[in-house]
Amino acid sequence: MRRVYLDNNATTAVAPEVFEAMKPYLQDDYGNASSIHWYGQRARAAVEQSREQLARLLNARSSEIAFTSGGTESDNQSLFGIVQASKSEKKHLITTSIEHSAVLHSARELEKRGVRVTYVPVRSSGVVDPAEVEKAIGPDTVLISVMHANNELGTIQPLEEIGRIAREHDVYFHTDAVQSVGKIPVDVESLGVDLLSLSAHKLHGPKGVGALYVRKGTILRPLMYGGHHERDRRPGTENVPGIVGLGKAAEIAGERLAERMHSVGALRDRLEEQILSSVPYAAVSGDKLRRLPTTTNIRFDYIEGEGFVIAMDLKGVACSTGAACSSGSVEPSHVLTAIGCTFEQARSSIRFSLGRFTTLEDIDYTLEVLPGVVEQLRSLSPHYKKNAVSTQASRA
Ligand SMILES: *Cc1c(COP(=O)(O)O)cnc(C)c1O
Repeated sequence: MRRVYLDNNATTAVAPEVFEAMKPYLQDDYGNASSIHWYGQRARAAVEQSREQLARLLNARSSEIAFTSGGTESDNQSLFGIVQASKSEKKHLITTSIEHSAVLHSARELEKRGVRVTYVPVRSSGVVDPAEVEKAIGPDTVLISVMHANNELGTIQPLEEIGRIAREHDVYFHTDAVQSVGKIPVDVESLGVDLLSLSAHKLHGPKGVGALYVRKGTILRPLMYGGHHERDRRPGTENVPGIVGLGKAAEIAGERLAERMHSVGALRDRLEEQILSSVPYAAVSGDKLRRLPTTTNIRFDYIEGEGFVIAMDLKGVACSTGAACSSGSVEPSHVLTAIGCTFEQARSSIRFSLGRFTTLEDIDYTLEVLPGVVEQLRSLSPHYKKNAVSTQASRA
């Protein structure tokens, strides 16, 4: 059976160049990067090269990059690290209602520990209003954390403006850029961020490795204690093959980025437009302009998302109802409810996310099978029958 993967916001395939670059470090070059002998030096050189590759992609200095186990750790490190390093007695954190659970659940834990947290709402387009962020700032605010691109909608947040506000008020600014790095330009200077989280497996690198950009001068308390690795920011023997994979993934992500954005955007638009023209009662959620070129989130009224994902999977197409981390939960997406969707609307929403390896054939195959799947599921819905009949009657 043909298999089409349209769930690249959950994870991506390791690029062949990345796999090739990692191989020696799983085999012959297995040294500990902290050892002083030849083996250690080979590993150290590879880690430092990756740090430079990543710094180049982000327009950062290599000394400002710390490797971690992934996006979740980088997010936790940013929130707990800043709050715990702050000397002020009262502490206040500002974030948004549409963050990834790695930020949201860290914020909730901080609340339990006595930190005041403001969850800034978003507009129905899924975009945060920088003025709302500014209004929330108080004398005790220590950190603002706003994601760059949302994992469910693809919506891109106005970080430049929020960064300017954070600097004016002398508050640290963190962004979860796990979904944007490698897909759109990410420049820590123009975004004005002090901390930025990223993850290798979202940009065709391996799982279990990521990084945190920490602007020079930012004072962080580490999450863990151990050796003096990563300039005392993150102890533990470096995951050398993973770090090499992340470095290579960053290097290839920076190559022909504009061209790749354009071509994947054209495929996404083809998918979206043809779905909207061939399937009734379907609508796109989130801002259609301020959006990753790889993502579309479409609501199919009168269907239940999980059923749709399973039916599409039987046809060989992998898509999702939203964040992979919340799959299996009965709760509707907090992102979709934050933009004003009802529970029903949130439950009938599907995310299609494309990647470097998505082809025109993949999209056309999806378009071939999708209308039938929607129709089949709707034929089982008593609501749909009633509404479709009454709509036909009113047309007649
Ligand atoms: C995937 C994801 C994460 C978590 O990254 P991991 O490396 O899987 O821990 C965090 N934030 C966003 C926006 C994500 O999409």
